[in-house]
Amino acid sequence: MLSAEIIAVGSELLTPTKTDTNSLWLTEKLNEIGVEVRLKTIVGDDRARLEETIRDALRRSEVVISTGGLGPTEDDITREVSAKAVGRELVFHEDLVEELRERFRRWGREMPETNKRQAYVIEGADILPNPNGSAVGMAIEIGAKFLVVLPGPPRELKPMFEAHVLPTLKKSAGEIVVRRRILRVAGMGESAVDEAIAPIYKSFETVETSILFNRSEIEVHLAAKAKTETETETILEELTAKIVEQLGVAVFARNGELMEEILGELLTENKKTLAVAESCTGGLIGERLTDVSGASGYFIEGAVVYSNEAKMRTLNVTAEIIERFGAVSAACAEAMAKGMRERAKTDYAISVTGIAGPGGGSEEKPVGTVFIGYADEAQTKSIKITLPGDRYLIRWRASSAALDYLRRQILKSSSETVK
Ligand code: ATP
Ligand code: MG
Repeated sequence: MLSAEIIAVGSELLTPTKTDTNSLWLTEKLNEIGVEVRLKTIVGDDRARLEETIRDALRRSEVVISTGGLGPTEDDITREVSAKAVGRELVFHEDLVEELRERFRRWGREMPETNKRQAYVIEGADILPNPNGSAVGMAIEIGAKFLVVLPGPPRELKPMFEAHVLPTLKKSAGEIVVRRRILRVAGMGESAVDEAIAPIYKSFETVETSILFNRSEIEVHLAAKAKTETETETILEELTAKIVEQLGVAVFARNGELMEEILGELLTENKKTLAVAESCTGGLIGERLTDVSGASGYFIEGAVVYSNEAKMRTLNVTAEIIERFGAVSAACAEAMAKGMRERAKTDYAISVTGIAGPGGGSEEKPVGTVFIGYADEAQTKSIKITLPGDRYLIRWRASSAALDYLRRQILKSSSETVK
């Protein structure tokens, strides 16, 4: 597999306000053709550091791509510095100056003399035309290495890379296609997931598998390599199926979907409606559900019932429940779900009540204690969970747990109707 590295040039990219997005885009394109990005560097407009970086990069990696610093001004140093780094001269191209003059003429302007700098090209380099800007790119073979010098503005770099660099790289990369997929797992820990599926993914030698923890769920990242796209997809499908077989209903997304998207699909498919009563999540569940376009087809109503009084007034939770069991209790979660469902006249309602902390915990109900209620036509029930984390994480995890609880109930009831 060809190894590549990317050098993003520009002091503004080292400030907190400007992000290097070029390298993300380039990495995606390179991965698709089976070129592996092993390193990225961001260098300011600093001659010595840039020269050193280019030299090091060419020593380490087979393909080196730089972006930025090809403009006409003094701080645009990439052209000169990369020539120096590879030990070649810059050659003046009269025809490039003519093109630049013509471009300025079309804008009704005179070309400033400084733009002449952009007509210098590293000796022996292929010129990569730039229909969207004044700086041409360069591609140079140096021994067995390949250096590509691209302009910084994304709208100039992208078409240039696709038209003039990708086809060449694709040829030298050989026939390797890489495809990625993310599976998401709810209700299991990182090590439990790994323990369960390691024997499976280890037997797929052409797939790179990594397991990550993301706020409230586990992500299984798969990257498969094969000769064709169909072959790659087949391998991914096969591995996904085996993982799902092993982990069962805990896998909620096979293709990177979010929990709220999966729920949207389930509710739409089953033609069911939903209402939500939230205490400690303060509207987070409603927000997540309505982030999905088309949510109006199934999400009817949400209530943020933070105080005891609101729980009683809005959802008919009785004073007796609050007094006897407290607002953070199974009885209250169930009464909230039931009351919400009756009020909104939906097929399902879910509720959340808990202690997000940092204050408010007790020995009996420590911070992180959360009850999730569920109501449908036939039943009302609840679960108690204890969540780790700070206030932000507890709220986020409670919202995910509630959505996942609902998902499992829908799956259960729809498999029962099938039978
Ligand atoms: P120009 O001729 O416009 O000066 P240039 O090749 O010299 O082009 P830069 O001056 O480095 O490129 O950057 C021009 C603009 O392109 C920056 O202001 C920024 O908006 C964008 N840009 C540069 N590098 C990146 C990057 N790595 N990721 C995203 N945007 C970038
Ligand atoms: Mg510039």
